[in-house]
Amino acid sequence: MQPSDSGFATRAIHDGQESDPLTGAVVPPIYAVSTFHMDRVNVLRAGYDYSRSTNPTRTALETCLASLEGGVRGLAFGSGQAATDALLRTVCAPGDHVLIPGDAYGGTYRLFAKVYARWGVEYTPVPLDDLDAVRAALRPTTKLIWCETPTNPLLRIADLAALAQIAHDAGARLAVDNTFASPALQNPIALGADAVMHSTTKYLGGHSDVIGGALVAGDEELGEELYFHQNVLGAVAGPFDAWLVLRGIKSLALRIDRHCANAEAIVDMLLQHPKVTEVFYPGLPDHPGHDIAARQMRGFGGMVSFRVAGGAEEARAVCERARLFTLAFSLGGVESLIEYPAEMTHAAVSGSSLEVPDDLVRLSVGVEDVDDLKADLFQALG
Ligand code: PLP
Repeated sequence: MQPSDSGFATRAIHDGQESDPLTGAVVPPIYAVSTFHMDRVNVLRAGYDYSRSTNPTRTALETCLASLEGGVRGLAFGSGQAATDALLRTVCAPGDHVLIPGDAYGGTYRLFAKVYARWGVEYTPVPLDDLDAVRAALRPTTKLIWCETPTNPLLRIADLAALAQIAHDAGARLAVDNTFASPALQNPIALGADAVMHSTTKYLGGHSDVIGGALVAGDEELGEELYFHQNVLGAVAGPFDAWLVLRGIKSLALRIDRHCANAEAIVDMLLQHPKVTEVFYPGLPDHPGHDIAARQMRGFGGMVSFRVAGGAEEARAVCERARLFTLAFSLGGVESLIEYPAEMTHAAVSGSSLEVPDDLVRLSVGVEDVDDLKADLFQALG
């Protein structure tokens, strides 16, 4: 089924997901199969030969992902990190240089610092919300600006259209990790990005029951190159996992509205709490990236960070006192999570220029009843 021109919620439920032609099943079946019967040598029945190359359940997910991000090709991987790795191997070679966010996701930073650096790919962390700093950090060898917006965990906002222009003027590409916003709130390709990456583990899957990743290419040539690397490297999403992500996507539009509404209510509560010294949320009018976020996002998302009076010890204690907010890694699921970035998600950047404040707490605000969430945070703040 080809991507349609319908609205986002309709595409999430239908694109790539026509009823099964064989049985009429209204949901794409889980094709738990490694290889496909050929009628004659290299004559395929429906275009499938081997599931590392393509698998019908994965195709359904990939078609839907491309549609939701407004790209030409979607590719589903076994994790967000596998998707990032495939993109970097496609776009970068030894001697190339990449700009990454000054507060990049710790795992992305570790990929550059501990893996790609050994293979001669250089990187510079730069605050992507400072366009002069971005221009100043460019080198003749810069091949890629890797962007996160909102960033993790400080929720800084980068201007995607401006970054795309800067990248293209320099002969580089712009790739955007759109995990925090989800395609329901932000579509970087429409703003000029060349590719989008997702940890589908998060809002797309939405139920904390699967690890997955995705790439969506903005043009056919890059799409082909990414597909080549996906097939060669083989870090594909299995059919069960692809099916789970696809099932999660069906309710993304509904979930994201509730995530945003709950997050806004939590932010209001935090702003009034005497123990909270600073709140990070792009929906706040005094957030430095608020105007850009209002322009390029359809809502401000479900992620909130805040600093606590009492330093590291108190921030850790807030996380440990929470009951309904589960102390755990990850984000974007229906259940609310709380974490201590300095020693959890961002432990890998400790001691680097990307280090996060040690009194910071990060929330992934879920879709529970907001009064229950507020009551839990209130008691956790002590
Ligand atoms: N990008 C962001 C912003 C993330 O938060 C994460 C995981 O937390 C990843 C990428 C990596 O995704 P995965 O854990 O699915 O490999």
